[in-house]
Amino acid sequence: MKILPYSVNKKEVWNAFVEESKQGTFLLDRNFMDYHADRFFDCSVLVYSDDIDDVNIDSADNLIALFPANWVQEEKTVYSHQGLTYGGLITKPDVTQVEVLKILQKVFMYYEGYLGARILVYKPIPYIYSSVPNHEDLYALFRAGGQLCSRGVSTTVSVQHPLNMRTLRIRQAKKALENGFYIERVKDGEDTCLREYWAVLETVLREVHNTKPVHTSDEMSLLMGRFPRQIRLFVVKNAEARVVAGTVVFETNTVAHIQYIASSAEGKKYGALDLLMRHLCGERYKDKEFIDFGISTENGGRYLNEGLIFQKEGFGGRSVCYDTYKVELQRDVLHKMHEGLEEMGTRMMVKFLDLKALSQSFEPVLSNNMLRVIKSGWYLLGSENKQFEENWCKYVGSQHAVLCANGLDALKLILRAYKKIYSWSDDNEVIVPANTYIATVLAIREAGLKPVLVEPQMSDYNIHAEQCKRAITDKTCAILPVHLYGRVCDMDEILSLAREHNLCVIEDAAQAHGAIYKGRRAGHIGDAGAFSFYPGKNLGALGDAGCVVTDDKQLADMVRSMANYGSREKYVNEYEGVNSRTDELQAAVLNVKLPRLDADNAHRRKIAQRYINGIKNPMIVLPQMPEDEMEAVWHVFPIRCAERNSLQTYLKEASVETLIHYPIPPHMQEALKELFGNVSFPITQRIHNEELSLPISPIMTVEEADYVIDLLNKFVV
Ligand SMILES: *Cc1c(COP(=O)(O)O)cnc(C)c1O
Repeated sequence: MKILPYSVNKKEVWNAFVEESKQGTFLLDRNFMDYHADRFFDCSVLVYSDDIDDVNIDSADNLIALFPANWVQEEKTVYSHQGLTYGGLITKPDVTQVEVLKILQKVFMYYEGYLGARILVYKPIPYIYSSVPNHEDLYALFRAGGQLCSRGVSTTVSVQHPLNMRTLRIRQAKKALENGFYIERVKDGEDTCLREYWAVLETVLREVHNTKPVHTSDEMSLLMGRFPRQIRLFVVKNAEARVVAGTVVFETNTVAHIQYIASSAEGKKYGALDLLMRHLCGERYKDKEFIDFGISTENGGRYLNEGLIFQKEGFGGRSVCYDTYKVELQRDVLHKMHEGLEEMGTRMMVKFLDLKALSQSFEPVLSNNMLRVIKSGWYLLGSENKQFEENWCKYVGSQHAVLCANGLDALKLILRAYKKIYSWSDDNEVIVPANTYIATVLAIREAGLKPVLVEPQMSDYNIHAEQCKRAITDKTCAILPVHLYGRVCDMDEILSLAREHNLCVIEDAAQAHGAIYKGRRAGHIGDAGAFSFYPGKNLGALGDAGCVVTDDKQLADMVRSMANYGSREKYVNEYEGVNSRTDELQAAVLNVKLPRLDADNAHRRKIAQRYINGIKNPMIVLPQMPEDEMEAVWHVFPIRCAERNSLQTYLKEASVETLIHYPIPPHMQEALKELFGNVSFPITQRIHNEELSLPISPIMTVEEADYVIDLLNKFVV
């Protein structure tokens, strides 16, 4: 960024930039720097972008901002305004908040270093005048430690949307007409009339406000001669053609500024100003955007003149704040203005799942509840477990819920219990998708059963009855569908196939908490369901936990006993059980988080829909939103891309975290190679080669999603 002081030969550049700028609607088509030649020369600056080596002063290319200001040496103070009702930074329309921060930092440091300025008085342009109603400069002032030091209230008529003119004002205007009052525009050179009005103005200011106009009538005459199209004087004359009221108007393309308004006692009595204002608002300036009445203060700005404010409202105006900020130009503070924002400003960081922020979003209830458990002195198989099992039954709709240590155990316990109940043997087979997380397969193995892998369908990445049917043998005892990525399998067809062949259906619902399939929650569609509450799942603990749900009492009882060393009664062991429990602290966490699960899933759905609507890149295959959107809870948002690895690198470089679910399918894992031998599952392998999971979570923002969408749409190989 390069800062250059203003000089007369940059006048054209300055004016051209103002016209194009964000705040240009206000500032000013009236040759600002010419008009203020007496005050804004000494320290107004132009700000160019880095791209420029040798500043080309004849063009506005690379110019990003202007800062009109003046310097009062004795006060060591820079004013971004002086006696005017505005000031502040003028920027290109597309500059961002962070860019404004950088620009102002640079400008402030320039004043501090170059001029030895100690204080800057800054007056932002009121938002109503900027084409985009943002105040990026206020943020920068905040970072610089700026303090609000005064506030003025002006009244502005938004000409296209004014309030109704008050009846009283209309009546007064009529009275003025009835008394023979009329309006005249004083042309350049008609100095007698100007002087006559100035006498009225000076009297009013002296007698009522104990002050006098900033300009003498001679100076005003000079200014009007110099800017004949921008400065106009309107007067109201009585029947004898004597001036009884008037105002000076400074015009810009969009705004008419009413200044130096006054009325003699006679004018007041007969509504001269009402007549004048009705004319200006309703006729003369009806094509402008705003009519500004200026600040209504009294006694050197110490009081608001409420009477004036209400009077102006009577002409259709509303109040607008003109604030002034004071910045102490201290180097160390200025240096910090932008510290640490470099990264943030240039790009967004999108985590795959920000668990820290997620936990934070449950505070302080989360910590309070954990503390309560700690203080209770009871840490296993206690009231928190009982409470959650009840809550989870109610939520899922099942008759039983049994907490255990994790999702793997939940699956394993179901399989081991059924094995016992139905007397399955070690060569019985369980049908399972080839493209699942390895836990599903390991659970079957650990229960001493044989996993039989089947291919999923590309449409939903889940197994379907058709493929399962082909895998059924006389050894098959169960189907174990996985609701992968949070999308429920087509369970009707799987269930009817299972009934036909007398098979159990055990759902791996570890990714599908809360999904609803034809009125039933995932996990409660088949004979039994297994959940994991691993921290990253849709409902996650702050550690490991899992749960079995079923309507089968015998199964539930056996699972509960098996999970607790095979014992129903302390120290009496019926089965060779295991130790698989959810501790009270984790159950307490789940009790806190469960009430928000539906809302969290709805948020995931919203992000998913945004991705689906927004991502338009022929290289990317999107997952489908199910016809009934409740069937998916979007544990993962899986896209596919033939160039998956370079896409992942590309996103990583733009600070977007992604994961692959999963890079290696179970049958190709070293651990299971021997078991499955040289089988090939082309659909599964293709998914594993092409899948990429985009960030999605209950705390992901729409802005983050849009950032990701934008990146994906720009991705090319
Ligand atoms: C997470 C997960 C599991 C295992 O759950 P843990 O609690 O980690 O043991 C099993 N199956 C699927 C599909 C999973 O996503």
